[in-house]
Amino acid sequence: MVVEFRNEPATDFTNQENQQAFKDALIQVQAEFGTEIPLVINGEKIFTDDKYDSVNPADHQQVLGRVSKASKEQVDQAMEAAKEAYKTWRKWTPHERAELLLRVSAIIRRRKHEFSALMVYEAGKPWNEADGDTNEGIDFTEYYARSMMELAHGKPVFDREGEHNQYIYKPMGPGVTIPPWNFPFAIMTGTTVAPIIAGNTVLLKPAEDTPLIAYKLIEVLEEAGLPKGVVNFVPGDPKEIGDHLVDHKDTHFVTFTGSRATGTRIFERAAKIQEGQNFLKRVIAEMGGKDAILVDNNVDTDLAAQSIVDSAFGFSGQKCSACSRAIVHKEVYDEVLEKAVNLTKELSIGNTDKGSDVYMGPVINQKQFDKIKNYIEIGSKEGKLEVGGKTDDSKGYFVNPTIFSGLKSSDQIMQEEIFGPVVGFTKCENFDEMIEVANDTDYGLTGAVITNNREHWRQACEDFDVGNLYLNRGCTAAVVGYHPFGGFKMSGTDAKTGSPDYMLNFLEQKILSEQF
Ligand code: NAP
Repeated sequence: MVVEFRNEPATDFTNQENQQAFKDALIQVQAEFGTEIPLVINGEKIFTDDKYDSVNPADHQQVLGRVSKASKEQVDQAMEAAKEAYKTWRKWTPHERAELLLRVSAIIRRRKHEFSALMVYEAGKPWNEADGDTNEGIDFTEYYARSMMELAHGKPVFDREGEHNQYIYKPMGPGVTIPPWNFPFAIMTGTTVAPIIAGNTVLLKPAEDTPLIAYKLIEVLEEAGLPKGVVNFVPGDPKEIGDHLVDHKDTHFVTFTGSRATGTRIFERAAKIQEGQNFLKRVIAEMGGKDAILVDNNVDTDLAAQSIVDSAFGFSGQKCSACSRAIVHKEVYDEVLEKAVNLTKELSIGNTDKGSDVYMGPVINQKQFDKIKNYIEIGSKEGKLEVGGKTDDSKGYFVNPTIFSGLKSSDQIMQEEIFGPVVGFTKCENFDEMIEVANDTDYGLTGAVITNNREHWRQACEDFDVGNLYLNRGCTAAVVGYHPFGGFKMSGTDAKTGSPDYMLNFLEQKILSEQF
């Protein structure tokens, strides 16, 4: 009997023992810096001559690991391995597969500080964010294992005289997992384990910036006894292998999380039937956001300011759910802005390996740093710089938390996903206008409403077009099993990770109807 699902608890860093355990883990992972990471195809480790470096975004001269890059031919070999493994893996019962994955989560739990510590170095995560990332990876694995057990015998359909009917779920075949770097363990793990618990096999192409933490999952899967070829690890340059993975005639599904540009490219390419392909590919594309917090009049302005600051600057705003627009009623605008600016001035920024009290680390890489810096220049022209605006990439990619005020909904700062610690404030006359501005974006991922007016909350429930809508809190921090996650419009296919329906993304339904 499997115990009921429970979320992995956050580590309490005010506890000295936990502090020490995490410091020990930071030292432990340092010992591995410089290791070479192979491809893994059919369980075989392959070290290629063509490699790239994974570096520390807080200190870009520090090389953390050297990563082998897969060629198109190696992708083909990985696909052959995945096809072969699928023949037997799909015949494991759902319970057998799920039980193996529960071993996986148990191993991760035992090593969790090690994984979180690695994300401090590889992704520049603050301790609490890294801890949350590892915990969410555990949650996804535990949750999806139980979901598959529940689907093991299908769902009830009617029998009639002389006829017995069954409605069952079956896997689809080999597919491709393409995760982003911003939740380098949680999303990578969730989007890898869900398809395999369903009985499919996977080619995992990790994000370029975070291959080392992805390789940790490969180690765990091997330790737990996952058969060879069920997950194949193919890091590489997307320009070389990205389209090839998606276009491959044997790719049955692509589970992608990342930018709108890449997601829409994958969506379009996967629709084309390749020679020798006799099925339609399924694409899960979870993409970007331009998420807003709406602040009504007559609210607790401390709560409003705190919600905006937490949602805008946690992990340097590098969350698809991050608040990048504050849409505020004119009666409380000045007060909320002033409080948000004061809170922002108190935030600490630095190398997150220094301790659990560093609030914000670096942004992930030079490209993101340059992009955010450019948006800060744009914001300074479009609105008024209230706080922040400072950037420094001399050692690591640091961007100070930045607030612009006085923006219009049509401004670039209010329209385009920046994916950094930048939030724009705009003032509205009334709640109708606030909803109109909130929906004035191509994206529809998360949103929050701070209001004490029940009618306004009801109006937002009907009209605020986002996949995840929250009342009187921030717009980040969805929890597996509590807040299934996924967006509308150009935010993606609304696959709703961590939901009771998520496994259906990786299953086909079959009817067995027998007459007697
Ligand atoms: P990205 O540049 O689109 O990359 C995402 C993944 O796609 C990476 O593994 C990347 O590989 C790969 N990739 C790039 N080009 C490809 C191609 N032509 N074919 C196949 N794969 C390709 O996005 P990102 O910068 O990593 O992530 C940030 C974005 O993710 C933001 O827009 C954020 O909002 C979104 N996001 C959405 C969610 C959600 O649930 N909706 C969650 C997290 C993040 P390389 O890394 O090697 O380039």
